[in-house]
Amino acid sequence: MLVLPFQQRGLMSLSILLQSVIKVSQGTLTKSVHLCLHYQDTTDMAEKPDNADQGKEPQRNEINELGEFGLIDHLTESFDIKQSSTMTSVGDDAAVIDHDRHYTVISTDLLLEGIHFDLMYHPLKHLGYKAVVVNLSDIYAMNAIPTQITVSIALSNRFSLEAVEEIYQGIEAACKYYNVDLVGGDTSSSRQGLVISVTAIGMARREKLCYRNGAKAGDIICVTGDLGAAYLGLQILEREKQIYLSQPDTQPDLEDQQYAIGKQLKPEARNDMIEIFEKSGLKPTAMIDVSDGLASDLMHICKSSGVGAFVEESGVPIHPDIQQLAIKFKLDPITCALSGGEDYELLFTVDPEDLPKVRVMPDIYMMGEITDASEGIKLHTTGGNIHDLKAQGWRHF
Ligand SMILES: [Mg+2]
Repeated sequence: MLVLPFQQRGLMSLSILLQSVIKVSQGTLTKSVHLCLHYQDTTDMAEKPDNADQGKEPQRNEINELGEFGLIDHLTESFDIKQSSTMTSVGDDAAVIDHDRHYTVISTDLLLEGIHFDLMYHPLKHLGYKAVVVNLSDIYAMNAIPTQITVSIALSNRFSLEAVEEIYQGIEAACKYYNVDLVGGDTSSSRQGLVISVTAIGMARREKLCYRNGAKAGDIICVTGDLGAAYLGLQILEREKQIYLSQPDTQPDLEDQQYAIGKQLKPEARNDMIEIFEKSGLKPTAMIDVSDGLASDLMHICKSSGVGAFVEESGVPIHPDIQQLAIKFKLDPITCALSGGEDYELLFTVDPEDLPKVRVMPDIYMMGEITDASEGIKLHTTGGNIHDLKAQGWRHF
């Protein structure tokens, strides 16, 4: 692996990444290249220099040499059990989970190559990590704690054992960071693309669970973090892919784009917020994670709760780099924030009585108020106009 000076890592390595991933995605997948984007990497996903690898051709071992059960054993042997609720895990007909007097929360997602991800620019390890994180985010959005996951995967013979191992390295890093156990799953062959399905299981005390239907007029609308970055990251990666396909020798111009690319390729779920809520005794009246886009996800809360909303454009948090980048791409920053999606931040409503608790919490932005359903869902722009808030969330069909 090439080790680069830290500040230059992102710029250099992404260029190498794109060129190498594009090459392998057109042929057989042995191993995606190492990506060392300058993340605030709190997990053990950060690459470690491996001088022994330098200059060597990557190995390719065939999956069919192991067989299905051998493959599962091989991929999961290093996963350890962290949760006391995991009674049995991989290796029996079913996992046994003891959540005692807690409610069990379950969420599942199906990720298809060419629909939800593009292996031309999504490194396999990051893909494994993201597949887990997007599911855990749904569990946190219920104000619950994820405890176990199952992972099912379908692969064509384009994938070597080394390629699948990379996906599982990402899955394992997410399991470690979010303290969840892998307790089962399935593997199958696929005629064409890669398919990954993750099911996340979590628990919460009954009275702690936050549904989408609890918002009421007068509640304050809050969101964590900042919005629009993942969408812009995707725009950059799509642009670089097109440039590479037409001019394979050009070097990508990726200055100041690390934040957006990181949010797209390796998002994190807001487990920290659930801990903060617990410590301060705050229970949001309704909550959802921002996966489809702020506007679309707010509409889910409004529809389920039978309410309207009044959103202040000035209250929608957008990272300064993302403001600049959107303008560079000739996009309206607020449109990216409202409709972009894949932010995996938490959108929630709180009773005004709880505002003193919210005000002292880090990284939370108040961006509007819940109204009566008859008032609709409105956006008050910084220019002083009031529009209907339009949702242009992701449509897969
Ligand atoms: Mg969700």
